[in-house]
Amino acid sequence: MLEVGRLSVAYGGIHAVRELSLEVASGELVCLIGANGAGKTTTLKAISGLIAPQGGSVHFDGRSITRLPAHEVARRGLSLVPEGRGVFPRMSVAENLLMGAYARNDRAAIARDLDEVYALLPRLTERRTQMAGLLSGGEQQMLALGRAMMARPRLLLLDEPSMGLAPLMVQAVFDIIRRIAASGVAVLLIEQNAHLALKTCARGYVLENGVITLSGAASDLAADPAVRQAYLGE
Ligand code: ATP
Repeated sequence: MLEVGRLSVAYGGIHAVRELSLEVASGELVCLIGANGAGKTTTLKAISGLIAPQGGSVHFDGRSITRLPAHEVARRGLSLVPEGRGVFPRMSVAENLLMGAYARNDRAAIARDLDEVYALLPRLTERRTQMAGLLSGGEQQMLALGRAMMARPRLLLLDEPSMGLAPLMVQAVFDIIRRIAASGVAVLLIEQNAHLALKTCARGYVLENGVITLSGAASDLAADPAVRQAYLGE
């Protein structure tokens, strides 16, 4: 479904991502793990059209989306949940969710999807009229996931959903990610928390200094001595 081929991104003269290739199949849950500054966010931004790559290609459903603007990439069914979540703090929970459907005009289907998102995120149902800025960090992460789902994506790109959350909240957010994946939406998850990412995903890639150094089944990566030492604190 998503095929990234030899993608390279540089900021000025600094190469942040070099010749990166990865794939996500339909309905698959895949992670990209790596340390601070490895190039994870840069990779997601280049896939989703927020920055232009210097080289390489991005295909979605067999069609090139390389260098398409972000709104056009989103229209094709690829939704990014950025790091820091980016909810609109002065808008209500319900208004934030509806913003996710801004490019749609199928009102009846939007209403049904809103009900589905509330069913997925019961904590938000109780808070639907509350201002998003008053939610806890974990609730804001849930809201960002719900808003992305309102665009009816076929692939979700998640940038560090565990960032800054207390352990119980991390569990709750990852339960939601698993349920989203189980509903048939493919997920590419980037995480510094390698333990959690490898436990959640079927397959993964390891990114070091902008280069993919390892890839494979998550269980194989979790058993790999180099991964255990560098990312699992052993
Ligand atoms: P983190 O987990 O800290 O977010 P990351 O793996 O997502 O890290 P990136 O944010 O993609 O890493 O950054 C990769 C490299 O590119 C880093 O060396 C970073 O300093 C650099 N970089 C990122 N954004 C910019 C920018 N807008 N201008 C210049 N350099 C940048």
